[in-house]
Amino acid sequence: MISIHSLEFHYRYGEFRLSVPEFRVTQCEKVAVIGPSGSGKTTLLNLIAGIFTPVSGTVSVDNTEVSALNDARRRDFRITNIGFVFQDFELLDYLNVLDNVVHPYRITRALTLDRSARERAVSLAERMDIGDKLTRFADDLSQGEKQRAAICRALLPHPKLILADEATGNLDPENKTVILDLLFQTVEEHDATLLAVTHDQELLKRFDRVIDFQDFRHRDAA
Ligand code: ADP
Ligand code: MG
Repeated sequence: MISIHSLEFHYRYGEFRLSVPEFRVTQCEKVAVIGPSGSGKTTLLNLIAGIFTPVSGTVSVDNTEVSALNDARRRDFRITNIGFVFQDFELLDYLNVLDNVVHPYRITRALTLDRSARERAVSLAERMDIGDKLTRFADDLSQGEKQRAAICRALLPHPKLILADEATGNLDPENKTVILDLLFQTVEEHDATLLAVTHDQELLKRFDRVIDFQDFRHRDAA
């Protein structure tokens, strides 16, 4: 599902270098990514999602070489195939919760916002316990509520790949379990693949595999 080869990346400014010689995640796999703050976990997720493009090397998702697509096609590919739960949520403050959740459907022709999609949006929000906040502006939500809205938005199009960047970081233990259950259930129901950054040692046992980000740095040091 994810295949990275000889990837090199750096930002326009700063010292940070990311080097990933080889990285593969197979379909239906649930992989956790751990590693210290600043080690490049969010950067890697952005490269897999095609939000960033590598300086050299290739990134493929579901047999599509994302890193070779032009900007418009990369964006469409991402919206239709990848559910990204951003570390900082990236909700639109001027939209209410429901409009945020269905937003991907409004920005690509590849998804159709029909009655069934709307109904699923409402039902996802209810399962996430924000069903009573559908008409509230994103700006007026707690951190945990924002996070749950961001998860609903990522799951709604039934993406083949779910990228979750510390998606349970702002949640209390009870909500954390509910949301993790829903994430895993969605992944299993739709034969999706999950790559999740987490700092939560307790959650690691639920994943098939844990990638320690330190592994990508060894080569730098060598
Ligand atoms: P993590 O998610 O593991 O905490 P990040 O991927 O966010 O790490 O960041 C990796 C490194 O890249 C950090 O040193 C960070 O300061 C740097 N970085 C992040 N975004 C930018 C940017 N836009 N420009 C330059 N450096 C950046
Ligand atoms: Mg991060």
